Amino acid sequence: MSKADDDISELTAYDDESNDEGEKDKKQDSKKEASSAPAKKSDDTYVAIHSSTFKDFMLKPELLKAIADCGFEHPSEVQSECIPQAIIGTDVICQAKSGMGKTAVFVLSVLQQLQIAQATGPLCLVLCHTRELAYQICHEFDRFKKYLQGVATKVFYGGVSIMEHRASLKKEVPHIVIGTPGRVLQLAEEGNLSLKNIKFFVLDECDRMLESLEMRKDVQTIFKKTPHNKQVMMFSATMKEDTRGVCKKFMHNPLEIYINDGSKLTLHGLQQYFVKLSEKEKNRKLVSLLDALDFNQVVIFVKSVPRAKQLNKILQAENFPSTTIHRQMKQEKRIARYKEFKDYKHRIMVATDLLGRGIDIEGINVVINYDMADDADSYLHRVGRAGRFGTKGLTISFISSEEESKDPKVLDEVQQRFVVKVPEMPEKIDASTYMHN
Ligand code: ADP
Repeated sequence: MSKADDDISELTAYDDESNDEGEKDKKQDSKKEASSAPAKKSDDTYVAIHSSTFKDFMLKPELLKAIADCGFEHPSEVQSECIPQAIIGTDVICQAKSGMGKTAVFVLSVLQQLQIAQATGPLCLVLCHTRELAYQICHEFDRFKKYLQGVATKVFYGGVSIMEHRASLKKEVPHIVIGTPGRVLQLAEEGNLSLKNIKFFVLDECDRMLESLEMRKDVQTIFKKTPHNKQVMMFSATMKEDTRGVCKKFMHNPLEIYINDGSKLTLHGLQQYFVKLSEKEKNRKLVSLLDALDFNQVVIFVKSVPRAKQLNKILQAENFPSTTIHRQMKQEKRIARYKEFKDYKHRIMVATDLLGRGIDIEGINVVINYDMADDADSYLHRVGRAGRFGTKGLTISFISSEEESKDPKVLDEVQQRFVVKVPEMPEKIDASTYMHN
């Protein structure tokens, strides 16, 4: 058994160790309903909006008001399936395509249940794999808690001086902490961040967090520092069968929601094409595409940091409104760039896979894989940056030859796994098929 397996089997014993039986029974009871609902498998299409309304969830008026301010009229399918169970404390494991509104599931469920009176430490911990995503999730909490008095959120990730984080924790203890595992663990281990009052534990992009051994180790160490009685929720657009098993080891009798898993993961409203070309033809093709396409905002994915820097320079030299974001940048700069792009200060972003998951930027309607993704999952996450919440989008992947790369193999894998035909890009693409109305 590997070290990681070892760690996981330790987690399996978790249930038995509970030292607060009363609380536990209460929680199990609340889950009877959930367990009677079988793991949900739905074939509904991506944009399927449920006929229920947010009012049906009996949310706090402060939340309903914030939801209305955000312009959400109806819950998405994933929200309809998860929120009613999540707000009564049920553990949730949820796989649903990008852009279906998974973030609001845990943000609303936590805010609905949060009781801050007499809180002596953070009550909710959300872990995710990148700093940009942590920042975005914090922003989402801030949007929805707008009318709730006194709820404090804080985000912690590496790349920012830890002294700042320590000082900020001394000044005010947040009720909700969002962070990346490394920094959260460091703050917890040195005693600056107490996790002993945590009632809600959320993993976003959970497959990414648990499949990387290093991150999984940190997540597990953090998890063990939290109390037994808490609600655990995990989310991702992609989740292999065995990863689901790993996730479940962190939970008590979870509600399992797998929407359009496997074959139907394709993003509705998203047109997907490939272009066959050699490495040296890529720049010219890209420039001609950017000239020809009627894009709103576009993300161009490349496979390495040097390539991101280089390509951004080339595009800027050609007078394209381009910017870039990658791991080698200072943290403040990364977040500043991300914000600038979100605020529409640039229309083109050259990025590595750092931006591949979870990031929600409304303006993006075109994704170009200048370098093809490494595998089908990361392809899905990347292209999911366009066409969020059922809007239209376009994605074009540059495919180098078999001799030059494994791109053709990955493209085959994408087509098989998601049962989608990605055709060769036609001469002309009708802009009305991918531009937002
Ligand atoms: P996911 O986590 O599933 O990838 P997000 O939570 O990032 O998706 O949501 C995608 C976008 O859809 C966000 O801009 C979010 O504000 C928006 N959104 C979420 N739920 C709704 C809703 N019920 N109505 C309208 N927009 C929504």
